[in-house]
Amino acid sequence: CGIVGYIGKRKAYPILIKGLKRLEYRGYDSAGVAIISDDRQLNVYKTKGKVSDLENFVTQKDISGTIGIAHTRWATHGEPCSANAHPHYSSSEKLALIHNGIIENYAVLKEKLQAKGYIFKSSTDTEVLVQLIEYMKVTNQVSLLTAVQLALGEVIGAYAIAILDKEHPNEIIAARKSSPLVVGIGADEFFLASDATPIVEYTDKVVYLEDGEIAVLHLGKELKVVNLSNVEMTPEIKRVELN
Ligand code: GLU
Repeated sequence: CGIVGYIGKRKAYPILIKGLKRLEYRGYDSAGVAIISDDRQLNVYKTKGKVSDLENFVTQKDISGTIGIAHTRWATHGEPCSANAHPHYSSSEKLALIHNGIIENYAVLKEKLQAKGYIFKSSTDTEVLVQLIEYMKVTNQVSLLTAVQLALGEVIGAYAIAILDKEHPNEIIAARKSSPLVVGIGADEFFLASDATPIVEYTDKVVYLEDGEIAVLHLGKELKVVNLSNVEMTPEIKRVELN
């Protein structure tokens, strides 16, 4: 039920965990993180239970990296367990995705992807998103952004999502429809969260994404916001009070 993301020069993990804790009031049954490590591995750690359980789970694991996404799940499809916790990998394990919301037509999409050889590891509606994005990327030989636009064009439902691509360790792509998502703009860093509470201690510049918008958080570039048809939007930067 909560999303946090970070890309910049600081260590991502502590920011992600702190952000998840700020979102705990929303309720959840599992928690997880995906971080691209300093040696460019896309590591996913997730577990049923509290954010503190996740912290115990990652002791002795590689939590290095300056780009990551994190999630607290309130199960709607599939029981609360570590396999169903987010982030979810794509089949190639090059992409990792988190999602709040419900994909209504997931069963049809899942069948189509399974017929093409995609193996699913969870019983969530969410996993279909990351597999469909990978399918679009590979079959059409397009960028991650284009693949996200193509995939979301097929999806019926509500979502706030964030995606990491191991091959692009300088970029987080996020999108929303009927589920809230806020981008925080810092100096050479971006934050992402379901609401502004995890962001306000770092920056007072935020953008509330609108329905149908996709945000590209690329290190060293301005925030880019487009819609599913790739029309560029002008994000309205709001000032919030710093804590
Ligand atoms: N429908 C997804 C699931 O059950 C996401 C739930 C959520 O919003 O946390 O995994």
